[in-house]
Amino acid sequence: MPPAHPFDDDKLREECGIFGVIGVNDAANFVALGLHALQHRGQEAGGIVVHHPEHGFNSARRFGYVRDNFTSASVMETLPGPIGIGHVRYSTAGNKGNTAIRDVQPFFGEFSMGGAAIAHNGNITNANTLRRELIERGSIFQSSSDSECIIHLMARSMGRSIPDRMEEALRKVEGAFSVVAMTRTKLVGVRDPLGVRPLVLGKLGDGWVLSSETCALDIIGAEFLREIEPGEMVVISEQDGVQSHFPFRPRKSRFCIFEHVYFSRPDSVLGGRSVYETREAIGRELAKEAPVDADLVCPVPDSGTPAAIGYSLQSGIPYAMGIIRNQYMGRTFIEPSEQIRNMGVRLKLNVNRALIRGKRVILVDDSVVRGTTSRKIKEMILDAGAKEVHFRIASPPTAWPCFYGVDTPQREKLLAATMSEEEMREHLQVDSLSFISLDGLYRAVGEANGRDPKQPQYCDACFSGEYPVRPADMLEQGFQMKAAE
Ligand code: SF4
Repeated sequence: MPPAHPFDDDKLREECGIFGVIGVNDAANFVALGLHALQHRGQEAGGIVVHHPEHGFNSARRFGYVRDNFTSASVMETLPGPIGIGHVRYSTAGNKGNTAIRDVQPFFGEFSMGGAAIAHNGNITNANTLRRELIERGSIFQSSSDSECIIHLMARSMGRSIPDRMEEALRKVEGAFSVVAMTRTKLVGVRDPLGVRPLVLGKLGDGWVLSSETCALDIIGAEFLREIEPGEMVVISEQDGVQSHFPFRPRKSRFCIFEHVYFSRPDSVLGGRSVYETREAIGRELAKEAPVDADLVCPVPDSGTPAAIGYSLQSGIPYAMGIIRNQYMGRTFIEPSEQIRNMGVRLKLNVNRALIRGKRVILVDDSVVRGTTSRKIKEMILDAGAKEVHFRIASPPTAWPCFYGVDTPQREKLLAATMSEEEMREHLQVDSLSFISLDGLYRAVGEANGRDPKQPQYCDACFSGEYPVRPADMLEQGFQMKAAE
């Protein structure tokens, strides 16, 4: 599967997708299909753990795409059982770009009351402190992943059941976490009190499913029941069905607003609304806020497409596929030689010259991170004979790093951290550049009155610099928070 965006290294990247199922025959096959649907959330590696009453726990963890690893009979036959969980990852906070197989989740621990496996999406913001304390008290870590802290905290807990231990462990953890876990007989799902990362519950025949996104329920024919609430823990067994409780101190939710803009698949549903529709609404809002006289609205494929359609519908300027993406462009092809790699953008995208020549073009993209690819695309469009190029961006300027499970460059590498909007326009050498406002984005995701500055309804830290959870580890490493206004 090609990366979700052709300019993978100039985009923020979601670090994980998680999936679990209980009460079905051959859980591993369902987990593999679910992970395949979540592949856009992490393409570096994936893993599956299952349990069978006779064969016990079994697992497989591999680098690469799900479809290349979890389709062969020789692997899937080793994963029998009616309950299983899985994880796809980009790279955790532990070992960016230098992953060892021991960093690949799910993680497994053997406790006095039996084994348990966990898969985590998010980022623990006090992991360094926890890890130091745990190591001092005798824990032996196997990986560099922050998520492994949860297993060690569970091992130290005096809770009488695994869900009790998990609850106690997660109370010590700060940051963003959606977790899917399993014991021999139970599937467990938890979201952190702010509900930063998504997690949904589905029904599949007599069984149950937990998934990062609804698109993974569709692929296996499961029915979407509801989102797991922020701060909720569900413990699911074949015998008792779904038991829900709220073990954490209640907080007002702060779901990641960037899931709406870019991370989630457009065919998923978030907060009761289709992601596609929300992105189209973002495009409409952008057209209202930043109109420009032009001949064509073109998306930067594929992630800019719904916003470009919305911009076109609102403005009445025709929508056109001015840039065509090569669907079969995988990473492997660009690796063999430096010369080919330098062709970069042109290998992945081609301008539809006949359409572009002599036109004033509005290019709609989801975000600008470093800005390197925006510049290349602009050059391609001008080379093809465009008269003017106007960039419209479906998110506010990304000026701050994310510490909640999304890979972001260091702050200095973010174009918007060092330049004003006008400086960015000059740097990109485009005729005009506009980003949707933060209020406009909030309106597009369904908050009619925009952002509540006293109590923002979402996490928007990468735009606003207002972090809903103090990034303790990063502060320790010298990260400077935005000064209070
Ligand atoms: S900082 Fe940005 S990407 Fe990270 S959770 Fe918040 S909104 Fe999402």
